[in-house]
Amino acid sequence: MKPKEITLNTPLNGNKILLNELNIDEIGDEHFYTGIETPMKFGAFDISDEDKIEKIEFHFKEIMETLGLDLTDDSLKGTPHRVAKMYVKELFNGLDPSNKPKIALFENKYNYNQMLVEKGIAFYSNCEHHFVPIFGKAHLAYISSGKVIGLSKLNRIVNYFAKRPQVQERLTIQIAKELQRVLDTEDVAVLIDAKHLCVASRGIKDNSSATVSSFYGGKFQEEHTRNEFLKYLELKTEY
Ligand SMILES: [Zn+2]
Repeated sequence: MKPKEITLNTPLNGNKILLNELNIDEIGDEHFYTGIETPMKFGAFDISDEDKIEKIEFHFKEIMETLGLDLTDDSLKGTPHRVAKMYVKELFNGLDPSNKPKIALFENKYNYNQMLVEKGIAFYSNCEHHFVPIFGKAHLAYISSGKVIGLSKLNRIVNYFAKRPQVQERLTIQIAKELQRVLDTEDVAVLIDAKHLCVASRGIKDNSSATVSSFYGGKFQEEHTRNEFLKYLELKTEY
């Protein structure tokens, strides 16, 4: 059977390349991805969280034993269960749409129609190619279309999408699209500055680099609006 051809969203040197022409290490190390939606299999939520934890626990025990670890050791024997519970309930609970934050909007009573910037939202995610941490800061902005959102909800949206196996570009776009949807405006900006442990602790072992990705929608595509946002990010305030 001919393999499915997947065209990358991230063209290399301006040319579209095909993912199935790359080997799996190249896909991981170059952090290519296939689309904006997190690839989920059909029936992903047909089994309960408890059943998922049980399955992952079983398989993680196999991994540890294959690595040669002694699972009768008191320190190690609870690890498969701890990892399984952490995956399902914490690190990857953003895969489940039922965990999506419920957003309440408020009327914009003050007619504040300037840019609102929420900067420095800390997040922890994991690279979908290596399952090691990506962490950093997300900076968001929007211009109200007549509704405003509770500030804590911006953090919750970031963290919902971070709690998935991710690539940074997709995380950026997923956050931006959700903000556009809930705020009912195109005028949204998202900038993410993050560190990838798969780059720092393995592979190229570059501990000093960081990755910046951005999304500018609506008015933020205009240079002066974008520059205003970027200038706010430079503001250093003594809190
Ligand atoms: Zn990676």
